[in-house]
Amino acid sequence: MFANMLAYKCLSYGKKLIRVNSKYTSQTCNVCGSVNNRMGYNTYGWLKVREWDCPECGTHLDRDVNATINIKETGLAVGLA
Ligand SMILES: [Zn+2]
Repeated sequence: MFANMLAYKCLSYGKKLIRVNSKYTSQTCNVCGSVNNRMGYNTYGWLKVREWDCPECGTHLDRDVNATINIKETGLAVGLA
């Protein structure tokens, strides 16, 4: 429903809507590209893990900021293809 509404708005403003597969966007380090599948879950589950350190490059990452960067980079890559 939201995607349909967004597509309509993009069309009316002459913008291109690019949908990105959200799989691993928050678990992939935006610095080195490694997927952190060793993190596991805390007591409240994966969604409660707000910050993590990349086991490959050591970068300290905010979950939401990291996911936002990954979504932006993926969208730009798809949009430019
Ligand atoms: Zn990394």
